[in-house]
Amino acid sequence: MQLQELATYVDRVSAPRVAIIGGGPAGLMAAEVACAAGAQVQLYDHLGSVGRKFLVAGKGGLNLTHSEDADVFVARYGACQGEVGRWLAQFDATAVRAWARGLGVETFVGSSGRVFPLDLKAAPLLRGWVRCLRASGVGFHMQHRWLGWDDDGALRFAHADDERRVRADAVVLALGGGSWPVLGSDAAWVPLLADRGVAIAPLAPANCGFDIDWSEHFAQRHAGHPVKPVIVEYNDTNGGRVRRQGEFVVTATGVEGSLIYAFSAQLRDAIAARGVVEIRLDLVPGRDAQRLARDLSQPRGSRSLSEHLRRHAGIDGVKAGLLYEVLSKVQLQDSACVAGVLKSLPLTLTRPRPIEEAISSAGGVRFAALDEHLMLKNLPGVFCAGVRCDSNQRRNFVIGSRA
Ligand SMILES: Cc1cc2nc3c(=O)[nH]c(=O)nc-3n(C[C@H](O)[C@H](O)[C@H](O)COP(=O)(O)OP(=O)(O)OC[C@H]3O[C@@H](n4cnc5c(N)ncnc54)[C@H](O)[C@@H]3O)c2cc1C
Repeated sequence: MQLQELATYVDRVSAPRVAIIGGGPAGLMAAEVACAAGAQVQLYDHLGSVGRKFLVAGKGGLNLTHSEDADVFVARYGACQGEVGRWLAQFDATAVRAWARGLGVETFVGSSGRVFPLDLKAAPLLRGWVRCLRASGVGFHMQHRWLGWDDDGALRFAHADDERRVRADAVVLALGGGSWPVLGSDAAWVPLLADRGVAIAPLAPANCGFDIDWSEHFAQRHAGHPVKPVIVEYNDTNGGRVRRQGEFVVTATGVEGSLIYAFSAQLRDAIAARGVVEIRLDLVPGRDAQRLARDLSQPRGSRSLSEHLRRHAGIDGVKAGLLYEVLSKVQLQDSACVAGVLKSLPLTLTRPRPIEEAISSAGGVRFAALDEHLMLKNLPGVFCAGVRCDSNQRRNFVIGSRA
């Protein structure tokens, strides 16, 4: 054996064995960091390939991070900003962009300040990432479903018709939450950890849509149509008025899209507390209410109401549909009433869409169950990484992915 080979062999046998379970972005990043630290890394996933949800996220352009100031960025994490701030100090938005560049993917800042890959796709990034991990020696074991531990502390995996046992010096659980289970994160880990005494907050939909009891006519006619620009306004649980401009999409059962997701944690919690929640829409942001009322009060002669609304308020399509949805025929003839509702149109959200349809999950392993290295306090050597979104926070994040 040559000296160099001997050195490599000694390094390998003395390097800690790290098992990563879950091949989403959190597991891949954990593998990258553990490998760079000199560990022998084996990654397991129960699907046939890694990063399925990451690839689906790419269909929406893959928002990688945000370019806003670090202080503002951290504040978005609400009650978790202490913990998340520590992680972001080690791997911030600039570092995310440099990391993507290192994998051959340039990024750009969109008009909203959000950061995307130049080609708005996830596949090239994922391909480059996996190639790099394989080259660094990470072993990939697909179709291995984690089942927990045996009595001797070995990891149990179902593979084909067999059960395999794996021993590791450290384990990273990167199993995702409960959203889009078809992409792998089916939350089957919850009872496995709960049985070991790990404190877990119930999983709940985050960044999710909401149901509204649309009329059949409205749903059929306008489902899939974006409402933009629009301001959404509502009373938060502390009695404050929250207001934000953006866009959302009408669905067959209600509403979804970025402006709704931005408030979804608060809206979900408000529905849980109050039963339903009312939001108000300003369909004509930037138009003065009095001026609008004056414009709409002009005689319309033989013109239809739709034409009158289009000419004097710039309202047509789905926005006109919303107006017809909430006003009676008599109210629609009252220009002052129409102007008022265009500036403050009420919608009642009845329930969040199920977690299976949500972009991400709230709840999961509680921070109190983890030490500062994100190791489970009552399972030494077992670490957690991955999606987590607390109730009062507006961004999902991947815990422990780099720290
Ligand atoms: C439509 C959509 C659009 C999105 N857009 C964005 C976006 O633009 N920007 C953004 O930041 N986020 C976006 N997200 C959210 C993002 O995809 C998730 O936050 C992210 O994938 C979470 O990473 P993760 O590694 O924690 O979990 P996951 O990606 O869910 O990975 C968990 C992995 O664990 C595996 N696994 C689970 N249980 C077991 C088991 N028992 N045994 C073995 N393996 C198991 C799963 O197969 C999976 O591969 C989007 C999500 C969706 C659904």
